[in-house]
Amino acid sequence: MGKRIMIVDDSRVIEVQMAKLLEGTEYEVAAYCKDGEEALARYGEVLPDLVTMDIIMPGMDGLEAAEAILEDYPEARIVMVSSLAYEDTIQEADEIGAKNFVFKPLDKKQLLNAFEKAFA
Ligand SMILES: [Mg+2]
Repeated sequence: MGKRIMIVDDSRVIEVQMAKLLEGTEYEVAAYCKDGEEALARYGEVLPDLVTMDIIMPGMDGLEAAEAILEDYPEARIVMVSSLAYEDTIQEADEIGAKNFVFKPLDKKQLLNAFEKAFA
């Protein structure tokens, strides 16, 4: 069985793209959540090996959600996936405890590289 990934993103397009990029890799999509609240509610039930976390979402944003998940599950592997390529955003994600930061638009090589590092 592959490493189980939980995708958190309010965009269904990203969900579809991500599933396509991960096809044929060692990773499989275990769950999809459309916002931070759902991610927080479902993390404990899904217990994924890794979470990809969007930042801009309605309601609880990805940084808040990542922080809340890591508070309850300090061992959680969270990779931020966002177009917010600002130095302070990346630094905040790092301080919260996210393993890595991947920029949109999605690139397979960049994504898999970030996953690999998160598992190292
Ligand atoms: Mg978004």
